[in-house]
Amino acid sequence: MTGKMADKPHILFLFSDTGGGHRSAAKAIIEAINIYHPDRVTTEMLDFFVEYAPPPFDRAVQTYGPMAQVPDLWELGYKLSNGKYRSRLVHDVLWPYIRKSTTSLLREHPCDMFVSVHPIINTPILRALGPNPKPYIIVITDMVTTHAFWYNNNATLTLSPTREARERGLQIGMAPAKIEEIGQPIADKFRHPPPPKEALREALGWPQNRLVVLMVGGGEGMGPIEETVRTVDRARLDLMMAIITGRNLSIKHNLEKSRLVTDHEIYGFVENMPDLMYAADVIVTKAGPGTISEAFIAGLPIILYSRMPGQEEGNVDYVVDKGAGVWAPYPEKVVTTLRRWVDNPGERNKVADISKSLARPDASKNIAEKIIQIVDQPQI
Ligand code: UDP
Repeated sequence: MTGKMADKPHILFLFSDTGGGHRSAAKAIIEAINIYHPDRVTTEMLDFFVEYAPPPFDRAVQTYGPMAQVPDLWELGYKLSNGKYRSRLVHDVLWPYIRKSTTSLLREHPCDMFVSVHPIINTPILRALGPNPKPYIIVITDMVTTHAFWYNNNATLTLSPTREARERGLQIGMAPAKIEEIGQPIADKFRHPPPPKEALREALGWPQNRLVVLMVGGGEGMGPIEETVRTVDRARLDLMMAIITGRNLSIKHNLEKSRLVTDHEIYGFVENMPDLMYAADVIVTKAGPGTISEAFIAGLPIILYSRMPGQEEGNVDYVVDKGAGVWAPYPEKVVTTLRRWVDNPGERNKVADISKSLARPDASKNIAEKIIQIVDQPQI
C-alpha cells in the first residue's frame, strides 16, 4: 500500500538496499502487522537512498555491491564515522547538503508514524521533524557491532535484536527506557512448526541419509561462494551441497557449467528458505543478520565463511562466542569444519542445540505489537 489513507494510521518504513537485511526486516515487520493486526494501519516502504539522497549518495544502492567487494574501503568509512561524537559531526557536516531532500521526503510521504530499519536516515529525519516529532521507531538489524547512527534518544523507541546491541546503545548514551531487546525481525513462515524433515527432503529431491549443507551468501550471493563450493567439492566429503546463489546469476551460471563431483543442487534466489533450512543439517553462510537469525530458528550449526567489515563483524563474534558456529574465513577451514561434523555427529548436534537456543521466532510479531500499541496512543 502506498500513500496515506484518511481513515487509518499510515506507517512509513524507511529502508535501503545496502545489505544488512534492511529490506527483509521491513518486509517481515509489515507482514506481521498484516497477519496479527489486519486492516489496522496502512504501510509503505521507502528506499530513501534511491528516491531522495542527493548525488553521489543516491548511488549508494548500486555502489554497495562493488564497495562491499573492497572491504578496506567499506571498513574505513564505517569506522571513521562510528562513535557518539564522530557520528554527530558527520551529520552536522552533511546536514546543509541533505536538508532539502529530507524535507521533500517528509512533504511527499505524509504519515502518522515512522519505522526505520536503517541506521543512516534516523538523525536527518528526527532533525527535520523538529521538537514535536511523530512516533519514530528504530528497529536495529545488526547484532553486536552496531553503528552509532542507529541510536538517537529523540526516537520514540528503539528495538534491539540482542542484549549486546542494547548495551552498546546504553554505553553511547541511550536512555534505558528508550531501548528494548526484542530480537531480529524474521519472516512469519519461520514462526510455524515445520513439516517433518523426511517429507521436506523428499519434496526437494534431497537424499535422506546424507548430511546436507546449505551454502548461501545472503540475498545478493556475496562472498567467495564459488571458491568455497569448489574447495568443498575437491575434499570429496560424504555430503550434499544445496547451493543458493541468491540474485547473483553469474555465480549460478559458473557453478552450473562446472563439473562438481559432490552430490549437489544449485538454486538461484529461493522463496522457500524455511523449507531449505529445516531440511538441511548445516549452513555455510555470509554473516548476514537475517540468515543467522533464521538458522537459529531452524537449529542449524553455522559456518560463517565471509562477513562485511564493520556491521557484520559482531555477528561473527555473536555466533562464535555463544558456540552456535565457527568462523571460517578461508575455504580450507570450511572443509576442516565440515569434515569434523560429518565424522562427529555428536559435536555437530551440540552446536545445533546451542543454535536453536538462540532462536527468537516471535520477534516480528512482538515488534508489530509494539508498533500498534504506539500508533494507538493519543498524540500530544
Ligand atoms: N534470502 C532468500 N532467498 C535467497 C537468498 C536469501 O529469501 O535466495 C533471504 C534470507 O532468507 C534472509 C535475507 O534474504 O532473510 C538475507 O538477509 P541477510 O541479513 O542474511 O543478508 P543481506 O543479503 O541482507 O546482506
